[in-house]
Amino acid sequence: MNRKHHRIQKFNRRRFIQTAAALPFIVPALKQRLDAADSDMKIRRIEIFPARYPMTGHFKFFTGPHGSLGRAAIFVKMTTENGLVGWGQSVPIAKWSYETLETGTIALKDYFAPVLIGHDATDIAGAYKRMSTAIADGNTTGMPISRAGIDLAMHDLSGKAASKSLAQLWQRPQRDKLTLSWTLNPQTLDQVEPLMDAGRERGFKHFNIKVAPDPTFDVALAKAVRKYAPDTFLWADANGGYDPATALLAAPKLADAGVDVLEAPIKPNRISGYQALKKQGALPILMDEGVITPTDLREFIRLKMIDGVAMKHSRCGGLLSCKEQIEMILSEGMMWVGSGLTDPDISLAGALGIYGAYGLTKPAALNGPQFLTADVFKEPFKVEDGTLRIPTGPGLGIEVDETKVRELSKGVSYVIE
Ligand SMILES: [Mg+2]
Repeated sequence: MNRKHHRIQKFNRRRFIQTAAALPFIVPALKQRLDAADSDMKIRRIEIFPARYPMTGHFKFFTGPHGSLGRAAIFVKMTTENGLVGWGQSVPIAKWSYETLETGTIALKDYFAPVLIGHDATDIAGAYKRMSTAIADGNTTGMPISRAGIDLAMHDLSGKAASKSLAQLWQRPQRDKLTLSWTLNPQTLDQVEPLMDAGRERGFKHFNIKVAPDPTFDVALAKAVRKYAPDTFLWADANGGYDPATALLAAPKLADAGVDVLEAPIKPNRISGYQALKKQGALPILMDEGVITPTDLREFIRLKMIDGVAMKHSRCGGLLSCKEQIEMILSEGMMWVGSGLTDPDISLAGALGIYGAYGLTKPAALNGPQFLTADVFKEPFKVEDGTLRIPTGPGLGIEVDETKVRELSKGVSYVIE
């Protein structure tokens, strides 16, 4: 053995002994660093894509400024430090609330996203607080529909990190499918039967009607639908379109015509009107518009304004808020039905997840598949026999095809990191 080799061997032996002695300290430290890298769920990047889904059929809510048509949607792609990607979608409708495609995009890219960079993607309640520091609450939480896109992306990431579906994340039973209700928004009575036939051809058995402001037309519409569908769940939504006196006149007549529930007969700030309608007791009175946070709902229940709520996670500011409200309704023994905002696919996946997890029994007014003609999934949702399959994969259980998102947003996107 020459001297050089001996030196190397001695050095290696010494290094080995030193390294071995340090192993009990190095290994845990290394493992900790690897664990931290794997589990680093801090939000690194948020990308926002504003878009409009093309539509089919008449639905009074979906005309935009400058002649634009289609269902507005703002995609939220959220990436964490460890490289997980979650998708969400905000679904503003200018003709339903004050949030628009344009204001929602600004709220997300300039206000909400910047305060969430570096925040733990699994801390959804904490994100709600951060967003409220960026845009202050008004009467209740501001820009809830825009915020719901963030909530969805965070639920998608939380589920993916834990390898759990929404139902599993919430320790609720996983159900496989949800029955849908077909939305009727005829402009004349002779459109009723053809519109119902179109629904029946796609396997739908249940119908919801849009009513107000004209109670005479509404009663005739309800009778026509009831005649053609005697045994189904018939749900009338006025979208706050009656005044209190008209609503009090309309409710018993709608009940006689065969309507099962009356949703949003008047605007949400007509508190005494709601109290009078509930007291009248002609139909179960549900609210939709104006119920944003669990605190709002608690107050409306205390004030004896309602018999239940039409839920939708987008209106509530997201799934977390919606879930608390469903739990409140269940613990009060009140009624809830599941509706939506003509949700495009990502938002729809959130609705299916929560309605499935909480065992919705009434047919859901999720009419995105009825009215929208585009999708962004690798495997698009398919309505079969009037039902939709509830995703069971991790998070929202969806696989988004980003090429389709970029096509719909016509290449417009904003990156916040
Ligand atoms: Mg409604």
